[in-house]
Amino acid sequence: MRLLGVDVGGTNIKAGIVSEGGEVIESRIYPSPRDLPSLFLLFERISSELSPFDAAGFGIAGLWDEGRKKIRFAPNIPYISDAEIWDEIQRSFPGAMVQNDANVAAFGELLFGRGRTFDSFIYLTLGTGIGGGIIHKGKLIKGKNGFAGEVGHMIINPDGVKCGCGARGCWETEASASALERKYFEKTGKRISAKKIWERAKAGEKTAEELYRNVATWLGRGIVSLINIFDPDAIILGGGLSEAGEILFAPLRDYVRKNSYVFKYGKIDILPSSLGYMSGVIGAAAYGWKGKE
Ligand SMILES: [Zn+2]
Repeated sequence: MRLLGVDVGGTNIKAGIVSEGGEVIESRIYPSPRDLPSLFLLFERISSELSPFDAAGFGIAGLWDEGRKKIRFAPNIPYISDAEIWDEIQRSFPGAMVQNDANVAAFGELLFGRGRTFDSFIYLTLGTGIGGGIIHKGKLIKGKNGFAGEVGHMIINPDGVKCGCGARGCWETEASASALERKYFEKTGKRISAKKIWERAKAGEKTAEELYRNVATWLGRGIVSLINIFDPDAIILGGGLSEAGEILFAPLRDYVRKNSYVFKYGKIDILPSSLGYMSGVIGAAAYGWKGKE
């Protein structure tokens, strides 16, 4: 089987063919177009370059309204908000399924990743923001409108900075890769990537180490609440920041152990995703294949 997955982000659009075992057979990365007509042209191009396919799925970085079949809000792809994308997608990809990017990544984790061994888990992607997808008893929780899982916008620091969603002090303003980069800039005056900060922390730079612990603590605060509410089998972390390994995971698990009695007395794992860089494409393909069920 050839399952097509398309991951539509603000910087790149990734597309690929995934096997029914979850392997990426073919893939392409395109810079994100700046306007809707160019996006539709790119959809046609993806469809012809990656044909034939048996099912297709889209993960889009925005609030996907399941009833209206529209993205209602996409801070990183503003022109897509409320645009008529459904008919265009169906024209190039008949029968395609569409959902929010973090929700399809959670679905990919369920079908092809670490989630295969779990019944209920929360997937978090730590990048520019914090995306979330909640799997309960083998099903993606979508909510009334299709908006469920927006955990990155739990307000966790009311005195914190303004968030792209319009609120102040959302979780992603304290615990995402871009939050780490902002905090590093505030301390040192240097703008470097989260990956570079990680390299500096590994090399023993005090500020970088301290900020990794700081972000791990903020991450822990949100995860404690999620664990106490859902009592899941696992929390699975994907996205760039999750590749930092023990520099992030050790202080994170330590914080959660000390602060969540559900974690302490339950048996809950906190793990990195196993799907890596193409997790969005794998998730979209998985959702296109099994998302209807
Ligand atoms: Zn927010």
